[in-house]
Amino acid sequence: MALTGLQIQKLLPKTNCKECGSNTCLAFAMKLAAKKAELKDCPYASDEAKRVLGAASEPPVKGIALGAEQALKLGEETVLYRHEKTFVHQTALAVNINDTEAAIEATLKSCKDYVLNRVGQTLVLDMVAVTQKGNSADAFVALAQKAWTTMKRPLVLRSADAGALAAAAAAIKGSHSVLVAPDAESAEGLVAAAKEHGHALAITAPDLDALAALAEKIKASGFNDLVLQFQTHSLAEQFQTNAIARKAALKDNFKPLGYPTLKFIQSTDLMDSTVEAVTEINKYGGICVLPSFDAAQLASLMTLRLNIYTDPQKPIQVEPKVYAIGEPKADSPVFVTTNFSLTYFIVSGEIENSGISAWLVVPECEGMSVLTAWAAGKFSGASIGKFIREIGLEKDITRRDLVIPGYVAQISGELEESLPGWRVLVGPQEAGDLESFIKTRLVS
Ligand code: SF4
Repeated sequence: MALTGLQIQKLLPKTNCKECGSNTCLAFAMKLAAKKAELKDCPYASDEAKRVLGAASEPPVKGIALGAEQALKLGEETVLYRHEKTFVHQTALAVNINDTEAAIEATLKSCKDYVLNRVGQTLVLDMVAVTQKGNSADAFVALAQKAWTTMKRPLVLRSADAGALAAAAAAIKGSHSVLVAPDAESAEGLVAAAKEHGHALAITAPDLDALAALAEKIKASGFNDLVLQFQTHSLAEQFQTNAIARKAALKDNFKPLGYPTLKFIQSTDLMDSTVEAVTEINKYGGICVLPSFDAAQLASLMTLRLNIYTDPQKPIQVEPKVYAIGEPKADSPVFVTTNFSLTYFIVSGEIENSGISAWLVVPECEGMSVLTAWAAGKFSGASIGKFIREIGLEKDITRRDLVIPGYVAQISGELEESLPGWRVLVGPQEAGDLESFIKTRLVS
């Protein structure tokens, strides 16, 4: 839990020597509480102060790094709601493959090849889960190896046989994957395999108290790369349990529940499994394992996840410049919009759909949408005109028709003043109406 300035001051020497750059220890403590200073700036901080403040500055949800390069990060969350600050690491999506499946090769290929291009981002599946359903430990280990070699992404390994899990953990050493302990009894035995081969360990227990006790025990043994798997029996219970654990970690600084979570979606019905996965993405899921590969389901979930986990303070932006839509020529019309990615991709898509080629001017608007940018003074007639002159667009085109979004019709006069010789056309308010606007106003 974050300490207040007064709580921190009690841990400082209180000599007001000013060597930290602050006039008093209290002023320095206030800066520490606001995370505007670091304890190392006080040369006289005691070991006790370092221990207490160090623990207090740890994120309440433990960070876990997965994958060969340890690039897939989970946990480290600090807020319950996105509007408080931002969520840090998004829910990792995985697809389950059973070792008894007939079409293993085809599923692995689908998982590997799946790509979703959305608002300029290339999204792929994060992980694959390998589940032992058959009787052969060798077949399970071989599938884990094949999945790792094919995907080169971290795995979730699940088996009721702790020996098979340990063997598979050795076979995919270096992948920094997740071993799923089948029960509390086998979890402690699997710690050695997880530690030796560099994997995280997902632990489970019948209820939260037992799970917290198990997490504490394993942490005390010196292993802390844990993932929690809750035993719940309904969507409502899963939702509640995820929320209880996250609140305990964030609000009460209850470390034994401060770990990323793992959820295997049980339902094989596409709609039900999607609802369960949506709940995980919305409410604190760490890894969400889907029961099978479905491209449409993945597209929906990844789009939702992008909405939840994009930092609202840092909108996704495209580079400010002139974009060619189709194969525009000197006499092609010119459109203008902001550099908020979603706006750019919707507008460019609608122009493309109309079948014409055009130039799309995208000035720097700090990733804001049209009305927000206009209200902030970033999308005015003067600023758009200045941008067009600076990029030298007038050298390359002969047609002087510039289409502005209908929502900012009020800037047309200022824009015409800023760009003498241009005809400013007020386009539709909604991008969805661009096609008919183009056909009736621009194509003769
Ligand atoms: S350096 Fe340490 S002891 Fe000196 S004023 Fe700053 S906080 Fe207090």
